[in-house]
Amino acid sequence: MIIFKQNEDLIVKLQSIKNDGGTIGFVPTMGALHNGHVALIKQSLAANDITVVSIFVNPTQFNDKKDFEKYPVTIEKDIELLAKADNNILFMPSVEEMYPEGLEPAPAYDLGFLESILEGLYRPGHFQGVCRIVHKLLDTIQPNNLYMGQKDYQQCMVIQKLITGFNLATHLNIVPTQREKSGLAMSSRNMRLSAVAKENAAAIYKAHLYIKNNLLKLPLEQLREEAARLIIEAGFEKIDYTVVCDAFSLAPVSSYNAGQKLVVLTAAFIEGVRLIDNLPLN
Ligand code: AMP
Repeated sequence: MIIFKQNEDLIVKLQSIKNDGGTIGFVPTMGALHNGHVALIKQSLAANDITVVSIFVNPTQFNDKKDFEKYPVTIEKDIELLAKADNNILFMPSVEEMYPEGLEPAPAYDLGFLESILEGLYRPGHFQGVCRIVHKLLDTIQPNNLYMGQKDYQQCMVIQKLITGFNLATHLNIVPTQREKSGLAMSSRNMRLSAVAKENAAAIYKAHLYIKNNLLKLPLEQLREEAARLIIEAGFEKIDYTVVCDAFSLAPVSSYNAGQKLVVLTAAFIEGVRLIDNLPLN
């Protein structure tokens, strides 16, 4: 695996691959890698000539400074994991390298409704920072294929909007959520949980399954309330949202119409750590 820290060097390397007709797959990450990330990397390796993984803890997407400061950094382990996965290129730029213009003022991306709900509502500015960094990375790497996890459902929709809005020649591939045996969605943030909280945190997945399994049996609002109760009962301190939405628009849905594709999404805090997860329902 070759490690790059500068945009210019990476551009030269990738240009030579493109000149030879090679395809490029790209997996953006913030490090603290786990098997969820590996699933994305494996898909990219299988479908492209070269896979680039980036590790960059992007300061502009953290609306909460403490969350940024506490974000786990495990770079040596990450490099080991990437080498073992046979990844080709690791891009590990500094903040100065990605933001030579400084962090402020930030450009504005028009994300419409997506920015007014769920993560957009609870983490003001988060998706602006995500768009800013992914746009920069896509400009540098110009990948044929981009790989992102369904775990960040709304993020996938935001990035698809970015790609479409800027006419970028990149195809977004969405990879199913990888879970622990308990059902807990793998996440770098899980590293901050005690063993007990890690077990209890699987309640989000179980509550989502409860909604899925009873979709046709009980009114949606009743299912949603019971799911929220299950999550709190398992030891979560606070729920930002547990909500059933239209799977394509993310508009909240209060009653089930046959044929409408639905997804349930939750953000909740356990031991002060904010976890998100979702489950397509039909
Ligand atoms: P992160 O490092 O958390 O920013 O995640 C980098 C990429 O990995 C994003 O596209 C995430 O959606 C994806 N990802 C994170 N956790 C999982 C998971 N459990 N399953 C699948 N993809 C994931």
